[in-house]
Amino acid sequence: MGFLDGIFGRKTDCYQCEKIVKERNTLFRRGLRFCSSECVGLFLHENPPKTAVGGTPAHYTQQVIVEINSALGELAQLVRATGGSFSAANHHGAVGNIVGGAAALTDFNQAMSCVGQFNDYVRTALPYVHALGRVNDAETLETIDLDPILMMSRSVASHGGLQQGNIRRLTEETYQKVSAIVHAVATGS
Ligand SMILES: [Zn+2]
Repeated sequence: MGFLDGIFGRKTDCYQCEKIVKERNTLFRRGLRFCSSECVGLFLHENPPKTAVGGTPAHYTQQVIVEINSALGELAQLVRATGGSFSAANHHGAVGNIVGGAAALTDFNQAMSCVGQFNDYVRTALPYVHALGRVNDAETLETIDLDPILMMSRSVASHGGLQQGNIRRLTEETYQKVSAIVHAVATGS
């Protein structure tokens, strides 16, 4: 049993059809959970993405960079809030080293606030990402799920080192993914 099984032993209901499913078996999209790709498809069909209008591509690009860089800053904060340290040397390049810090008390409220802010920045960026026609990047951003990190941050106090390592690993993966998008948008690649 992997560490994610413990976290996702919980059950939840599909946002689209309300079927009760194990959370680890759900698909995550725009902050919601679904039982199947069919339900995701139905939801997206009924709720098409918002697209920014009236601006220039340069303006949209700038907005994406500002919002996504702020989101990346929240990921760094998240690691600090759970007792680690995070040093991202270059927001537009390779991921910085995330170095484990001394054991610290988990500030779960702060971690929760970081996740909330990250989601807000991503939500604000999405209409600009769509306006640039970057459908794949938008999909990647819409499927980033930080709940497992949040769940783990609850138990740092009892499983300090192990959970801090897991949190760092998942946060680093997310950071890489999001960082690659902002890099691609910034360079128009
Ligand atoms: Zn469903």
